[in-house]
Amino acid sequence: MIKTLHHFVGGRQVTGESGRFGDIFNPATGEVRARLPLASAREVAAVVDVAHAAFPAWAATPPLTRARILFRFKALLEAHADELIDLIIADHGKVRGDARGSLTRGIEVVEFACGIPHLLKGEFSAQVSTEMDSWSLRQPLGVCAGITPFNFPAMVPMWMFPVAIACGNTFVLKPSEKVPSCSLRMAELLREAGLPDGVFNVIGGDAEAVDALLTDDRVQAISFVGSTPVARHVYATGCAHGKRVQALAGAKNHMIVMPDADMDQAVDALMGAAYGSAGERCMAVSVAVTVGAAGDALRERLVPRIRALKVAPGTDPEAEMGPLISAEHRDKVVGYVEMGIREGAELVVDGRGLSLQGYEGGFFLGGCLFDHVRPDMRIYRDEIFGPVLCIVRADDFNEAMAITNGHEFGNGAAIFTRDGDTARTFCDRVAAGMVGINVAIPVPMAFHSFGGWKASRFGDLAIHGPDGVRFYSRLKTVTSRWPSGIAAGAQFVMPTLG
Ligand code: NAD
Repeated sequence: MIKTLHHFVGGRQVTGESGRFGDIFNPATGEVRARLPLASAREVAAVVDVAHAAFPAWAATPPLTRARILFRFKALLEAHADELIDLIIADHGKVRGDARGSLTRGIEVVEFACGIPHLLKGEFSAQVSTEMDSWSLRQPLGVCAGITPFNFPAMVPMWMFPVAIACGNTFVLKPSEKVPSCSLRMAELLREAGLPDGVFNVIGGDAEAVDALLTDDRVQAISFVGSTPVARHVYATGCAHGKRVQALAGAKNHMIVMPDADMDQAVDALMGAAYGSAGERCMAVSVAVTVGAAGDALRERLVPRIRALKVAPGTDPEAEMGPLISAEHRDKVVGYVEMGIREGAELVVDGRGLSLQGYEGGFFLGGCLFDHVRPDMRIYRDEIFGPVLCIVRADDFNEAMAITNGHEFGNGAAIFTRDGDTARTFCDRVAAGMVGINVAIPVPMAFHSFGGWKASRFGDLAIHGPDGVRFYSRLKTVTSRWPSGIAAGAQFVMPTLG
């Protein structure tokens, strides 16, 4: 019996009315485990009605009261961590440790948002003119919407809504239709934590629901995380409809390996960064740019490690890498492996043809390694989003920098070296938003902001941390005087210090 999920609106489960459904698979077995109602534009408008009606009371709620609800939510997330991890594994296929780590990273954003009374504090200047004071405050926007990808079912939604609701906004979350279970459960936990009905809502849906959110006048802000083509569409359409939009997009993260790097550390780091979560991370390293002798040294150490990768269902405690999200996506990644061979790259480790006993229907693919990849190849240019690592060889540091900066994407970039001068130059010159020095996956903590450059992000402000607070609030600057005594008379000049 396949379970039918629901939307979560106004503090309760709501049955879908569109008659359209999306299948949710267990990626380890290939079986359909549930179906999600896909909302029509009319259903989305009804959710926005609810969030819009809840806004005035929530905006007027003291930030400290909002923070205390988030403190209770954080405690509930921790108490229900195993249940949420099971949901992440069931919908997405991640291995348990990775699911736990990603949940922790989400909880850290809730911890950050608990400090909202401090974060919303404005600035004050006494005596900007004679007996005149000025101060700034940040106020909520109204209804904010979040549109999230499949690869982090708990963490990416939590990059958005804890900060948005802490700032006094109401929120409509449209999670990936492939992995909605965690979002629906978090909505119940927020209600249990004391969040008033209508402040946080979850709507199941696909492009139709997204377009309805992008064009609804009452939605003030859109946070999007997903692929670059959809991010461009979301950014252009949202901005054309007068909203503020942050759209985080695809990636092709490079890691430069210098000949002086500690090769064992570099290989350990690359294994996790390239093959963790089956390469389905926007911060995955998919290109190793090796300088000079680093190429052979790295390859020699990598190959046996990739061949020994423990690929298994996420529920297996020994698993290092789980399945891909869908059969369609697995086939797309396999298509890129075939393309790489045709393009003339050397396929050193071939993960195709992997079959796990008892899980023959699962969407598994073993780790793949290409060497001698060139920047003109599609396997280099495109985001593959699978367990495929490309080695690109460079003669020197300057060539490695030029390759890295020449790519369309600029999400994360890393360097492995023991030389401080090289590392400092890399840090200064690299065209990427998140930079690692002997750290392969430099994901900023919750109290910093997360976001790439170039085709990896559209919109000025990054997500969570200080930028998140700026994104979900608007600045008001007040100038005030309490005049007494003689009227100064009308003045027709631009006011200046007086
Ligand atoms: P996706 O772009 O297919 O989907 C993301 C969201 O957009 C989903 O909620 C989906 O329902 C919606 N959507 C899909 N097609 C749409 C359309 N035509 N019109 C309107 N909405 C549409 O992305 P995905 O496959 O779920 O996730 C993987 C992608 O996300 C990768 O490209 C990855 O790099 C990226 N990602 C980026 C970051 C980052 O921070 N930069 C983080 C995580 C994932």
